[in-house]
Amino acid sequence: MRVEFLGTGTSNGVPFINCDCEVCASADLKDKRLRCSAMVKVAGKNILIDCGPDFRQQALRGKISKIDALLLTHEHFDHVGGIDDLRAFGKVRIYAESRVAGAIRQMFAYCFAKFKYPGIPDISLCEIDEQTFCADGVEIVPIRAYHHLLPLLGYRIGDFAYITDIKTIDSENKAKLQGLDVLVLGMLRYKEHLSHLSFDEAMALVDELKPKRTYFTHLSHDFGLHETEQAKLPENVFVAYDGLVIDC
Ligand SMILES: [Zn+2]
Ligand SMILES: [Zn+2]
Ligand SMILES: [Zn+2]
Repeated sequence: MRVEFLGTGTSNGVPFINCDCEVCASADLKDKRLRCSAMVKVAGKNILIDCGPDFRQQALRGKISKIDALLLTHEHFDHVGGIDDLRAFGKVRIYAESRVAGAIRQMFAYCFAKFKYPGIPDISLCEIDEQTFCADGVEIVPIRAYHHLLPLLGYRIGDFAYITDIKTIDSENKAKLQGLDVLVLGMLRYKEHLSHLSFDEAMALVDELKPKRTYFTHLSHDFGLHETEQAKLPENVFVAYDGLVIDC
């Protein structure tokens, strides 16, 4: 399995518009973070996780030529705002839980209209719940977590799991995250936040789950420079960056 980080920034992206902090001003390409998304390549299939407003740029940079399934974590715009650009990929099947599917039908109502304009995205929604399902032959285990009060889904594929915008997770779902090779985990910054894991909270979860490797994503400019922060981390914990490709 190969995973490419298409975007690793929080909802603002990094740099944040009109911010001249050290991180936003950094010339290091690892400090330039598009909105959060990843492409999982497994068994010849391309499984996209989330499709934010930077998707067009990500698809061009990553030379994405096909999408076999799109898994949505939740309906916030930084995770779904690029769905219109799926028009380049023919028929795309989107997997989302019922509430998220409802939000997509509203946000992109023209894609579900009876009489469709030519050229609009050809998307179909598959409603999932917390049960394991197959996306084009690939087994996916949904992981329930909470974004403060909003329930969202992370996904486990083999020994890889991706969970972003999480603040809390219960013990039943933690049990589904045992024995991981790679955990991709949303971690915003050092300072606590209402609906995202802070650094200390994320590290406590990593200590509990003990994946072989952890990659932090959904980072804010408040977290710090990639190079400086990476140097402080244990040897199996990484600050992900846009364009990073990992095998697991
Ligand atoms: Zn987000
Ligand atoms: Zn900044
Ligand atoms: Zn969110």
